[in-house]
Amino acid sequence: MDLNKGAAPEGKKTITLIPGDGVGPECINAARRIIDAAGVSLEWEERQAGAGVFKLGIASGVPRDTIESIQKTRVVLKGPLETPVGYGQKSANVTLRKLFETYANIRPVREMPGVVTPYSGRGIDLVVVRENVEDLYAGIEHMQTPGVAQCLKLISRKGCEKVVRVAFELARAEGRKRVHCAGKSNIMKLTEGLLKRTFEEVAMEYPDLEAGHIIVDNCAHQLVKKPEQFDVIVTTNMNGDIISDLTSGLVGGLGFAPSANIGSDVAIFEAVHGSAPKYAGKDLINPTAVILSAVMMLRYLGEFSAAAAIEQAVLVTLEEGKARTGDVVGYDRGTPTSAYTDMIIANLGRRPQNGGVRHYKPLRLPKLPAAPDLVRAAARRVIGADIFVESSLSAEGLGSSLEQIVAESPFRLKMISNRGTKVYPSAGTSPDCVDHWRCRFVLRDEKGSLRDEQLLGLLAQISARHTWMHVEKLQEFDGETGFTMAQGED
Ligand code: NAP
Repeated sequence: MDLNKGAAPEGKKTITLIPGDGVGPECINAARRIIDAAGVSLEWEERQAGAGVFKLGIASGVPRDTIESIQKTRVVLKGPLETPVGYGQKSANVTLRKLFETYANIRPVREMPGVVTPYSGRGIDLVVVRENVEDLYAGIEHMQTPGVAQCLKLISRKGCEKVVRVAFELARAEGRKRVHCAGKSNIMKLTEGLLKRTFEEVAMEYPDLEAGHIIVDNCAHQLVKKPEQFDVIVTTNMNGDIISDLTSGLVGGLGFAPSANIGSDVAIFEAVHGSAPKYAGKDLINPTAVILSAVMMLRYLGEFSAAAAIEQAVLVTLEEGKARTGDVVGYDRGTPTSAYTDMIIANLGRRPQNGGVRHYKPLRLPKLPAAPDLVRAAARRVIGADIFVESSLSAEGLGSSLEQIVAESPFRLKMISNRGTKVYPSAGTSPDCVDHWRCRFVLRDEKGSLRDEQLLGLLAQISARHTWMHVEKLQEFDGETGFTMAQGED
């Protein structure tokens, strides 16, 4: 990657600086002052996003000149952005991450000297690598009936491969030993399973690193019981969102949790925390998470010694405890944000007595083909379709109506499920059904492949009697079944 593309005329690297909402400007100002004091020569291009922009009527919360600045500089240091309730549609944070395809969210936490937690002394030092643009956060939601909502959990092989490779490369760049994949493939065999299978394949290219899969709920349990066993954890978007807030809590809270959103072209550095509005403008907030996000940015830019100097100054400050923010010692006794920043600046050039800074090498980002379809199937077959029907009939009533409809057709009704559990033909169980039925039709010819006109014919027959709202083909790729069974389906 040519990071000089966004360089100012005199050769300085230009950074898009988004102060953000709430406590954002205070934290960003602290990080900027420290970087300047450390002697790193950066040009800052200040741009806006978030609440103020929503109020101007820009529905995305991200104005054109901010996008243009990022397209040019390709590196962003940002404060938190509020997601207003009542105006504006989507989170401006998620919009920024998605617009620039920052597919990996790197969230390190480490024990901080002088920050006493129930885990002090255990040497927690781990990184959560969260997939950042797919999964339930693709934001594809529908009300399928007036009372039943659906959110699509979209996971691609390409997305999995990119984030898994970042996790292994990060482990190597930071001299770490172990990578865990945390997921829920025991339940979601195709979506979460895709991450697990990709992880297991890619792991073979990294024999120098230990690799293991862990079920995400047990990962949460193990993180609370024995967090020091983890080094790097790679996971899907929502799992990573939750797990990484948990890991922040292990080391003293959101005030100490930095992050980097990394893509092939753009990187956005920000704290894990939000705009913490109740502390805004009071010179009270802990700016460490944003400062450490800026440290991650400096490493991304290749400024390794400045990054180490700033991280060491933060550690010295916390270790000596002459300046501690309110989240550590109580807000009635905390050092103001500005004075805490002054202390870090005064400590530049010093090293902590205990615990130092890792040796970092540049992170190698994966290079995958640009084609959208990373996986191709030599053979595919459509063996039937799931047709989702809204009906106030009982399972028996709907089942017998659909049996009549397909009696003379190439299809048979294999089963009906309600919220994933087979209810027709009845297995004698009694789920509390809602008016949202998945009706599974398969071709009577077990070797045949469903043609679209056959499916359209079936839909026309069903819509003469019932309301359908969604259709999903039942596909096989290279002989592998591309769908799961309902609970109780044989
Ligand atoms: P939040 O702003 O992260 O604040 C939640 C709590 O975390 C605070 O009340 C405070 O806890 C603690 N906290 C946050 N930042 C801290 C810091 N720097 N130092 C010490 N403690 C800190 O979460 P929220 O209240 O749920 O969200 C507020 C707004 O931020 C929402 O509009 C949300 O959408 C947005 N948000 C933005 C981002 C982002 O820009 N990336 C991320 C998350 C949320 P105590 O009350 O215990 O002191």
